[in-house]
Order: sequence, then structure tokens, then C-alpha cells
Amino acid sequence: MRFSGWQVLRQGLIGNKGWAPQWRTPDPKTEYDIVIIGGGGHGLSTAYYLAKEYGLKNIAVLEKGYLGGGNVGRNTTIVRANYYLPGNSEFYSHSLKLWENLEAELNYNVMLSQRGVIQIFHSDGQRDAAARRGNAMINQGDDAILLDREGLRKIVPYLDYDNARFPVYGGLLHPRGGTARHDAVAWGFARGADQHGVDLIQNCEVTGIDVENGRVRGVQTTRGPIRAKKVAMVAAGRSSQVAAMAGMRLPIESHVLQAFVTEGLKPAIDHVISFGMGHFYISQSDKGGLVFGGDLDFYASYASRGGLHRKEQVMQAAMTLMPMIGKARVLRSWGGIMDMTPDGSPIIDKTHIEGLFVNAGWCYGGFKAVPGSGKSFAHLLATGNHHDPAARFQLSRFKSGHLIDEEGTGAQHNLH
Ligand SMILES: Cc1cc2nc3c(=O)[nH]c(=O)nc-3n(C[C@H](O)[C@H](O)[C@H](O)COP(=O)(O)OP(=O)(O)OC[C@H]3O[C@@H](n4cnc5c(N)ncnc54)[C@H](O)[C@@H]3O)c2cc1C
Repeated sequence: MRFSGWQVLRQGLIGNKGWAPQWRTPDPKTEYDIVIIGGGGHGLSTAYYLAKEYGLKNIAVLEKGYLGGGNVGRNTTIVRANYYLPGNSEFYSHSLKLWENLEAELNYNVMLSQRGVIQIFHSDGQRDAAARRGNAMINQGDDAILLDREGLRKIVPYLDYDNARFPVYGGLLHPRGGTARHDAVAWGFARGADQHGVDLIQNCEVTGIDVENGRVRGVQTTRGPIRAKKVAMVAAGRSSQVAAMAGMRLPIESHVLQAFVTEGLKPAIDHVISFGMGHFYISQSDKGGLVFGGDLDFYASYASRGGLHRKEQVMQAAMTLMPMIGKARVLRSWGGIMDMTPDGSPIIDKTHIEGLFVNAGWCYGGFKAVPGSGKSFAHLLATGNHHDPAARFQLSRFKSGHLIDEEGTGAQHNLH
């Protein structure tokens, strides 16, 4: 069933009784050409592009819980292409272009809202870095506007510009950045993949990866063994555990990242704002809640909830940047398990095991990558060749030392 204005009208007239399920619930077959481990944003978009662009139909996505129950449904929904380094710059630019056509592509309202992302700076040095970043974005073909203090004040009047410790000097505006509805992205790709014949199998945990003579043969699951010619590991925060099933040790640590939402308020924050002196960022959802987050909890963990120390730091950062937020009441907070690499950049690559591929290391920025990652990973899986925009995301960089360290914080996972 295609979604359209006519369909909404028609269903309204017949009491909404005619909507069909968005995807099938098939039982797993004994064999597939490609098995994708993980039904998050990246696994689902990979399946979609594999089926749609490469005509491959015998594909299964195996999800241990429910589709979209992982980080894809837990993030703060920011979409942007404001990266600086070669590798990241072309990849996120490629992904943002896909976002801009995603609703038409999937016939699904992913609620992309290009409201502009503003990174605030608080010193001359930070302003120079913002100018360099803006130029890199423009060179890449994306958009960037450097705002001085007064220019920023005109569009964002509610910041504490004269904060004694962190005075606001200006901001780098990325007008095409913004937010999207996270669940809808997972559902849209799931529906699209299903329509192209992909089997989406929920409540099916992969418990082992079968390797014989250096070649992958299939997987063991809680719903029985499944043979496969190719296996793609797309398990985000669980990537190290899944790779260990094939005897691999990935350069990834798993850390908790928390997010927060307030009660619904009248429109107050028009953009996505990020604070340059502490890792704090905020936007307002379409329902009115202020959605915000900060740094990782800083210890490795597989718990998808966080500690009070980080809550305290996030609230302090919020109050420092925009004291008006002190009047809002926080409704809830949650956490997700981040797959942190030593340079903060992702991995889309083959492994030393023939037929076994990995897509991981998205740290806390993988939501905006969902379309780009799926498209590039599908290309690699289908053709065996790296897709140009993602060609630098190879495992070998951790051996050679050619890291893509966007934040320049060195090879410590939790600092990215
Ligand atoms: C609080 C928070 C805020 C964030 N904010 C942003 C943001 O604003 N912008 C942005 O770009 N990114 C953001 N991110 C990061 C982004 O959400 C992730 O990088 C991205 O969602 C990870 O990819 P995924 O969607 O495929 O992961 P997931 O949705 O976690 O998918 C992985 C799936 O693999 C499944 N799985 C794991 N092990 C197995 C197994 N053995 N068998 C079968 N299935 C398995 C899991 O159940 C899960 O569903 C944020 C993350 C968090 C937690």
C-alpha cells in the first residue's frame, strides 16, 4: 500500500480499518544469499539498497529484539554534514543528499526538518577552527555561514552571551542540517526492504558465526542455523560481541550515551544548537519537548541507561548556555550503547574472513549516516568494491595509523 493524501482521506472515511501491516513476519529460511545481523538503521538501509539497487532478493535481516529498538530509536535525531576531514566530509555530504530525497524514495514521512544546525564558539581559537570547518564544508559542496555574535543573537536571542566563563563569540550555521523522526527512518527502510522481498526476522538473536576454511558459511541463531553466502555484521553497540563470534577482535569499545527530553513546550528553539565548550546539544521536537544530550558516561558498558554524574554535567552545560531551560521539567532520560572507535570514525569493510563484512564504529553520530551507510555498504556487499564516499572507512587504517580523527583527541575511544 502506498501512502498518499488520498489514502489518508479514504482511511479517515472508513474508520482507519483498511491500513495494511507495514511488513511481513516471515519464518527464517534455511539459507540466504546475504544475512544481515542487526535490524537497526544501518542494517535495514543496507538491506533496502541491496534489494532495490542490486536486485538481490534472497536476503534476511536478523534482529534479536524488535526492528528499530536499538540506537536508531534512541538518538537525538540530528542530521548534518558539517565534517572537516577528508573521508568524513564526502561521506556525510553524500548521506545528507540521500536524506533530502528520502521521503520520496521510501514513500514514508521521515519528518526531515532542515532547521539549521549551529555550533557555538566561545574564543578566538574556536572561531578560527569554525571558519576552517565552514570552508571545508563549502569546498565539499555543502553550506556553511559564519555568524558573529550579533548575527547569532538575531536568530538565537536566548543564549547567555555574557557568561563570565564561556562568553558567546558567534556560531557556525549549517542551514541544511536539522532533525528527522528516528523511528520513522527505521520503519521506512524496513517497509521498503520488505516490499523488495527482504525477510525481516525479529526476535532472532545470532549466537554464532560459522566459518570453515577461512570462509563464512552461515550463522547460528535462537531460531536455528541459517546458511549464508555472505554475512554482514551491523550490530552497532554489540559489534565487538558479534565479531567475537567469528574470532575477531574489533578496535571498538562500547560506551553509554544518554539523552533527555522535557515536557512539551511552546516553540522556543528553532534550530539544533551545540555548545562549543562542553559536549551539549539541543533541539525541540515537533511535539514540543526539548531533546538534548552531552558526553558519553566515559566508562565502557553494555547497559543502555546511564549514571547520575553525567546527568548533572549535562544539566550544568544546559544552564550555562541557556539559563531559560531551568524552568523546563525533564520528563525522561535514556541511554544507548555506542560503538566507539579509536578515531571516532566508522568502519565499512570486508574482513579477513571471506564473505564476512563489517559495518560499525558509528560512535554517537550514526543516525545521520543511515542512508549513506546503507548505500555504501550495499555497494561493497554486492560488488566487492568499496563505494567512493566510504572508501576511507577501512579497518586497515588502525594498523597503518592513518586515522580519521575529526576531533583531534587521539586514540582514546571515549574521547570522541
Ligand atoms: C542518546 C543517543 C543520542 C544520539 N544522537 C545522535 C544524533 O543526534 N545524530 C546522529 O547522527 N547519531 C546519534 N546517535 C548515534 C546513532 O543513534 C547510532 O550511531 C546509530 O543508530 C547506530 O546504528 P544502528 O541504527 O544500526 O544501531 P542499532 O539501532 O543499535 O542497531 C543494531 C541492532 O543490532 C541488534 N543486534 C545486536 N546484537 C545482535 C545479535 N547478536 N543478533 C541479532 N541482532 C543483534 C540490536 O538489537 C540492534 O537493534 C545517538 C545515539 C544515542 C544512544
